[in-house]
Amino acid sequence: MKNIKELIIVGAGIAGVSAAVYAKRSGLDFLIFEPSAVGGQLLSMQAIDNYVGLGLEAKASQMAENLAQTLKDLDIHPVNEKVAKISHQDEILNIDTDKGIYQAKVVIAATGASFTRLGLEQEAEFTGKGISYCAVCDGFFFKGKDVAVVGGGNTAVEEALYLSQIARKVTLVHRRDKLRALEYLQKQLLAKDNVEIIYNSIVVKPQGQQFLESVLIEDVLTKNKRRLDLNGLFIAIGISPATEVFKELVSLDDKGFIITDEEMKSSLDLIWACGDCRRRPLKQLITAASEGAVAAISVYKYLKGYYISV
Ligand SMILES: Cc1cc2nc3c(=O)[nH]c(=O)nc-3n(C[C@H](O)[C@H](O)[C@H](O)COP(=O)(O)OP(=O)(O)OC[C@H]3O[C@@H](n4cnc5c(N)ncnc54)[C@H](O)[C@@H]3O)c2cc1C
Repeated sequence: MKNIKELIIVGAGIAGVSAAVYAKRSGLDFLIFEPSAVGGQLLSMQAIDNYVGLGLEAKASQMAENLAQTLKDLDIHPVNEKVAKISHQDEILNIDTDKGIYQAKVVIAATGASFTRLGLEQEAEFTGKGISYCAVCDGFFFKGKDVAVVGGGNTAVEEALYLSQIARKVTLVHRRDKLRALEYLQKQLLAKDNVEIIYNSIVVKPQGQQFLESVLIEDVLTKNKRRLDLNGLFIAIGISPATEVFKELVSLDDKGFIITDEEMKSSLDLIWACGDCRRRPLKQLITAASEGAVAAISVYKYLKGYYISV
């Protein structure tokens, strides 16, 4: 194959688009692959309140459109194909998509992640209208209100702790008889006087007119159901990175997120990663965008021979 690209970016969420913008401005010869519309998770969100400079309640769909427009304005045209397999031979990566075969010197993984849903009927309907998967993103909307968090691991307890500073009352609903979170997190949670933990229980039904008003919870031992009045339900039962195609090539953490250094380089020099597919402390739009920029500029330096890892 003759046309070996300098770079292939996999995914056109905000991280991939940001990487593409910086790659273009650096003059790299690259492609960006995206099987869906440009925007990634932005397409399943309503408002964005925490992206500096955008103002409050910025429309997520508008931001996704702006990202697509930015690509067009820069004459970047995403290849509408899903990357299915990546392998490498010497210093060249072979990238198989659902429609073709490509080669590149470097790949930036910007494949994102998805929150695990409870799988309830009407869960999608109430998402953005009371149901959320991210306290840092949406907690602000529930100032002085009553919320519940579903889950019992570190994330659920961290979400509950975060929300306890904002909401009037936080109820943690956990399906087992004890939490799985680290001891120090549990201690902090138990010390909060506006937090209640309901063990051995699952949420079985969200209820409300236009917005969420209550949930039905079921005791898994007795099968008794009861209504919990609330304004917000935060589901914190897991987030899965879309790193299947990278798992044989680079080091992942125990949850499958790609481990990188500060320049976004993975354990393999040829693969870099940014955004939600990467192990990082804060999964947000603003961090994904900044990591995309860092990844592209670091790749540029690597390809031009003056990359030094800090
Ligand atoms: C409901 C909801 C509300 C949120 N609210 C906020 C908020 O208010 N503020 C905030 O900052 N953050 C919020 N977030 C988090 C934020 O959306 C993410 O951190 C951010 O979108 C991550 O961007 P990304 O580009 O890394 O990944 P993604 O947006 O997940 O994009 C990844 C892209 O890669 C593509 N892809 C995956 N696999 C392949 C493959 N094999 N081949 C080619 N393409 C592939 C996908 O189709 C997708 O388009 C929210 C998330 C959700 C779900």
